[in-house]
Amino acid sequence: MVTATTTDDETEQHEESALETARRQLASAAELVDVDEGVIERLNHPDRVQRVSIPLKRDDGTTEVYTGYRAQHDSVRGPFKGGLRYHPGVSEQECIGLSMWMTWKCAVMDLPFGGAKGGIVVDPKDLSEEEKERLTRRFAEELRDVIGPKHDIPAPDMGTGPQEMAWFMDAYSMQEGETTPGVVTGKPPVIGGSFGREGAPGRSVGIIAEQAIDYYGRDIDETTVAVQGFGSVGAYAARYLDDLGATVVAVSDVDGAIFDPTGLDTRDVEDHDERPGMVSGYDAPHSISNDELLELDVDVLIPAAVGNVLTADNADDVQADLIVEGANGPTTSAADAVFDERGIPVLPDILANAGGVTVSYFEWLQDINRRQWSLDRVNEELRTEMLKAWDAVRDQVDERDITWRDATYAVALERVGKAHGARGLWP
Ligand code: GLU
Repeated sequence: MVTATTTDDETEQHEESALETARRQLASAAELVDVDEGVIERLNHPDRVQRVSIPLKRDDGTTEVYTGYRAQHDSVRGPFKGGLRYHPGVSEQECIGLSMWMTWKCAVMDLPFGGAKGGIVVDPKDLSEEEKERLTRRFAEELRDVIGPKHDIPAPDMGTGPQEMAWFMDAYSMQEGETTPGVVTGKPPVIGGSFGREGAPGRSVGIIAEQAIDYYGRDIDETTVAVQGFGSVGAYAARYLDDLGATVVAVSDVDGAIFDPTGLDTRDVEDHDERPGMVSGYDAPHSISNDELLELDVDVLIPAAVGNVLTADNADDVQADLIVEGANGPTTSAADAVFDERGIPVLPDILANAGGVTVSYFEWLQDINRRQWSLDRVNEELRTEMLKAWDAVRDQVDERDITWRDATYAVALERVGKAHGARGLWP
């Protein structure tokens, strides 16, 4: 039996879509940078969107067809780069918006990559390991013509991790007739993955939070932090800041949040990937909801779960002094405007969580050279790159008195715009 699953329309979100947010942000950045209008118009659209149907033989013998996408936004600075997510909310619009963010993320980090994003409309929790493997291998095959180590390099994102990347790389390599580790990043280190890649997005969130705390004249030892999402981004960010001396008072997973005003031991709380559901089940003084976590009176709020959690509905109730975005797109444009008006700085995703794609770049270099770096080297070079990007963005904030998001976009758009100017239009 063949059953069609979700379509685009069914998954269309009613809240602001990632594409709408990304376009608004581009329009706002375009006013700050001297870039040709035609180039801006070009950057409002993806280069290409590949839509594929992925038939999967389920364990019970039936066949289901899933929809997958790969949106490639811009490659003027180098091969397309960005993750693949497995989530029921994946849509064409979302992939395009997220691919635009990858273009800026790579540019602000000055990586020789452009932006892409893809995914499958599926809830991976509904699939067995074997089904996930078959789905991933077939997805790799469906995308084979549009990806490649010099062309477009996928990576993990929501719902995917090192195992999916290993299957993806294997399927691609089998068809190519040679082991091609550079076709994806975020692989297990034993097959060409980089040490430190899994923790890199959270580590960079921690590094940017650390810089911002210092920039606003605060002492990290006297800083309280709430982290929404205790998965691969949130847990690493929380532990990084905890190690520096900050007091992490609240963390959460999909089932709820825990709150201890005296500070949680972030190494004792198991993260959502280690043991799903364990955060909300942890023995802490207070159990609160995810929404309540966002409104706690803390110094730093780190939304590191999903997009669109800070909206016009709750922006006025946020009591944090500083927001550092761990997830991609956690703040809607309307909420951004409220935070700007209220004088709450928002350190944007495309800077704060850019450690992931930065270590992906290190992984790609290691794959080309067939030589693995030590974890110390990865973490040291990541810190260097993060501080370089921080300096460039901070200079814009200081010189132009603009928001951190606008400053980050200004740096990124200037680089992408100049590259378009230099290369020109063909024919
Ligand atoms: N999915 C990650 C992100 O949103 C990483 C992308 C990559 O490493 O290519 O930044």
